[in-house]
Amino acid sequence: MYAQQALYLDLDRSSHVLREVDDPEILGPVDFGLREWERCRALCFGGGAFMGSVLPGSNRLVFTGPSPCWQGFFVSSMGGAGAIFENVGVNYVSIAGRASVPSVLVLRRVGQRDLEVEIVPVDAEKLWQGGTGETERGFYSLQRWIWERYAHTFPSLPRVLAVGPGALATDFGAIGSSKPQTSGSPGTPEDWTLSPADGWAGRGGLGSAMVHDHNVYGVIFGGSFIDVDLDDRRFADTWFENRYKVRMLAKDLDATVKYRYDPEIHTGGTLGVNFAKLKDRLFYFNYRSIVWPREKRLAVHERLILGHYLAQFNSETIQTRQFSNCGEPCPAVCKKLRDRFKKDYEPYEALGPNCGIFDQRSAEALVGRCDEVGFDAIQAGGVLSWLLDLLAEGLVRPSDLGVDEVPVFDPENFDPVVDSARNARIAMALVDGIVSRRENLDLSDGARTAAARLGERVGKPGEVSDRLVANLAGDKGWMVPNQYWVAGMFSPMPLMGRYYVHYGDEFLPPDKLGIFNAGRMVQELFLDNLGFCRFHREWVEEVVPDLFRSFWKNDVDLAAHHRSLARRLWANNATVPWESGRVVDLLHRFVRRKLDEAGGPVGGAEAPRPEIEIWLARFDANPRDTALAWWQQVRRSCEATLAREP
Ligand code: SF4
Repeated sequence: MYAQQALYLDLDRSSHVLREVDDPEILGPVDFGLREWERCRALCFGGGAFMGSVLPGSNRLVFTGPSPCWQGFFVSSMGGAGAIFENVGVNYVSIAGRASVPSVLVLRRVGQRDLEVEIVPVDAEKLWQGGTGETERGFYSLQRWIWERYAHTFPSLPRVLAVGPGALATDFGAIGSSKPQTSGSPGTPEDWTLSPADGWAGRGGLGSAMVHDHNVYGVIFGGSFIDVDLDDRRFADTWFENRYKVRMLAKDLDATVKYRYDPEIHTGGTLGVNFAKLKDRLFYFNYRSIVWPREKRLAVHERLILGHYLAQFNSETIQTRQFSNCGEPCPAVCKKLRDRFKKDYEPYEALGPNCGIFDQRSAEALVGRCDEVGFDAIQAGGVLSWLLDLLAEGLVRPSDLGVDEVPVFDPENFDPVVDSARNARIAMALVDGIVSRRENLDLSDGARTAAARLGERVGKPGEVSDRLVANLAGDKGWMVPNQYWVAGMFSPMPLMGRYYVHYGDEFLPPDKLGIFNAGRMVQELFLDNLGFCRFHREWVEEVVPDLFRSFWKNDVDLAAHHRSLARRLWANNATVPWESGRVVDLLHRFVRRKLDEAGGPVGGAEAPRPEIEIWLARFDANPRDTALAWWQQVRRSCEATLAREP
């Protein structure tokens, strides 16, 4: 029997109540969060049906709520945090109302049943400054303060969620959390520390929602350990053996090779594998590289990525095997570290080569600064690369943005150390300006508003907005796309910035892309709603529906359930076509690249060559109108697919 319980906080009244969740339509944190969003625009977090179990990847903490930057319902998640959240003794937390003063929530289970809830005042703006002599600032110093003040009051290792000043200053603040660890087993508070493996629920700016809507700057949660879930590895192993004839761990090791270490390319993790394999499909200098000839993109990859950026990563992180996990016993150990810096592909692309930074020291400084202020790193990368591009092109002067240098934004004679350091220095000065809401850098109302205002001020309204790459929703919603040059990343889905799209590199005509998008959206919703890490999707999507029915004695059709959930999200789809000419270029040049690639399109789902030629001819003749027609066809097709399926 899958019995669920939720904690409802009403911060207007400083009250809380615990209740059973008796709605059969609620199977996971996305179902619960959507209901709470519809009810009162609550910010929620919770775990999936196998939270706390031995299944690798089953412990994501899933956040839902109104996204300030996307301007709609959003789902974001954090690896491993569900393993400790299980000790709170509830499946979900719903936060409604606004605390009267900036606050931290303390959620602590004591003994078998009692859940203690405290709402304590916090001077976050002072704590973000860090103490005298301390090196930690921003998100890290606030997190440290919460940890030192409250961790020892928990009966087992707790976990902290916190935000940085970026959450207050913008609409894209993330919720961050460093993985706690203990040197004992389970250890006493003296053995507990915070590790350098940070986790972020970054996309969607739910950290900004937590601060602006609820006056909450942090949460610490945990409690007594009472295991009631799928803790018997033999039970899980039986499932895997029946399905795959291998034990669970062996199957998972096989499915997660690239996240751990891929011996074929001598690297691992998302950073290592993507920078090794994407080659001419990487973005450089605010996407300027998309218009370069393929040979030029490959030459930059050879000299600046393979020769320097990736070489540094491989020698410093891969060869020294600085691998960690997100907080659950996961054999993928996808967290790749160099000292205190955790390295994933998307932050180190969006705030790396796409900002004209090809050196790990400079990228670490910039990513580290963005983490410190608590930005969604991809959103921050999109804003900074855009501003650097404007400076490099002379569309704005350094004095317009309060900086005193112009970036180097050309690969010709680019010095990976010296020029990267210069670009990172300017980008960090821009971060300071954004956090202090300096004139022309006030992003509190979103990047589209800021771009329109800046364009007016410098007398170039169209040109300034034209270089900001984002998917759009409503009047103000914006989302910097995930860093893959594929058509699916520019789709009109109700929730962009995650992987609720088909993001294969093959050319699919828009009506087919819409069908594929619908299918992927349903599967990704399933993963989020069950609280699973998508890096394990290869077996999770196959095994977990049966496992759920068997273990929880619930004969729900999970595929139908998540198609229905996708339809409910689609009903709130507020996406609008792009305003930026560079996004049109991204799509146009994607089609051209597909035709240019050696041998042309082949097999599989890919369209035949004449179909690509037809679309390319249309783009060449009229890029904007063709992009709009493409967008509309994807949308119609996806909507029809979701409506059609049972
Ligand atoms: S793959 Fe990485 S993020 Fe996913 S569960 Fe494993 S360690 Fe955590």
